[in-house]
Amino acid sequence: MTPTHAGPAAPDGLPAAQQPDWPDPGRVRAVRAELGALPGLVPAHECDRLGERLAAVARGEAFLLQGGDCAEEFRRATPGAVHGTAQTLLRMAGALEQAAGLPVVTVGRLAGQYAKPRSRPTETRGGRTLPAYRGDAVNGAAFTAADRAPDPRRLLAAYDAARTTLGLMSAYLASARGAASREVFASHEGLLLDYELPLRRTDPATGRAYATSGHLIWAGERTRGLDDAHIAFLAGIANPVAVKIGPTARPGELKELVRRLDPEHRPGRLTFVIRVGARKVRQVLPDLVAAVAETGAPVAWVCDPMHGNTFEAPTGHKTRHFDDVYDEIAGFFEVHAMLGTHPGGVHLELTGDEVTECVGGGAGSARGAGVSFADLPWRYASACDPRLNRSQSLEMGRLIAGLVAE
Ligand code: PEP
Ligand code: MN
Repeated sequence: MTPTHAGPAAPDGLPAAQQPDWPDPGRVRAVRAELGALPGLVPAHECDRLGERLAAVARGEAFLLQGGDCAEEFRRATPGAVHGTAQTLLRMAGALEQAAGLPVVTVGRLAGQYAKPRSRPTETRGGRTLPAYRGDAVNGAAFTAADRAPDPRRLLAAYDAARTTLGLMSAYLASARGAASREVFASHEGLLLDYELPLRRTDPATGRAYATSGHLIWAGERTRGLDDAHIAFLAGIANPVAVKIGPTARPGELKELVRRLDPEHRPGRLTFVIRVGARKVRQVLPDLVAAVAETGAPVAWVCDPMHGNTFEAPTGHKTRHFDDVYDEIAGFFEVHAMLGTHPGGVHLELTGDEVTECVGGGAGSARGAGVSFADLPWRYASACDPRLNRSQSLEMGRLIAGLVAE
């Protein structure tokens, strides 16, 4: 039986932050109808399987490795790009598994990471102001009026790119020697409700609604308002879900997120992704973990050491330092060791390409001898935030393996 569209869009009436300024509501309605008639991208049973894996993470019996581009680009739904990310993730997972003696759950930021929340709605360059780039599912990255105009047909292109990417990932896993027994699940920020809501389907086997746009869907730091549409959307789907947690989050907010997103305390259902910055993690995290422990919910704790450590390099590029990334992860592990809780995993922005976007790293040499500020213009390819390149990712994987093995 074909899964059916999951009825009216419940969160549609609620305030939704960071939505595109589409030019033509009629067009958006037509695109939503088209998406609603397409097959789901991932089946419900695979979402459930990831839920089981994440339940093991929450129990301290597995470790989550989640990573990929900040913003995927349609033009990179290619074997080279997808296999590069997959291979990097799998090599890191292998190193972690060997060191930790724990199974590693591998989740890509891929096949749907096509929409970005922005701190400013517009961008000004050389005295000219245009709408900010909001991800390939909304507009184009080039600084031209034509590219930056939001176009709802891009939602259909996002579906196609996601389907292509999932196919490339399956093909890679089936062919890669030693990797065929591995699973790589798909995750993205469920930002665009005009994409997510029409892709909800009711699973005929269980009668539950699933987001079929990816296995794991998260709400970002800017869209996790308790009464906002994004949290209502996550509350209404049966997938495993995650919420990014920044430095201003209060312990009471996390308790309320638990109440809304995991009222049944279902293991594997809810993951909190902490992204507070290396300088704050040791100070901020203990109260948050303690508050959630009071609820009794089996939440998985994951560290995103990227988004709290972004700064502008002297070249003007947005960057992150390898040492800050490592330090936030180390702090995350220290806090969990102190509290007797499980540091469940890491969430990284990375690529299989040797880009120059994050500074530092450099195995075999002193820290900081890898990518320098002067290198940034050389291969800065990210459509949004700076990613660890392949070498930096593998080096970070070895360092995290050291922490997990301690
Ligand atoms: C992201 O993951 O790219 C992102 C925007 O994160 P956050 O919501 O944590 O800022
Ligand atoms: Mn990012």
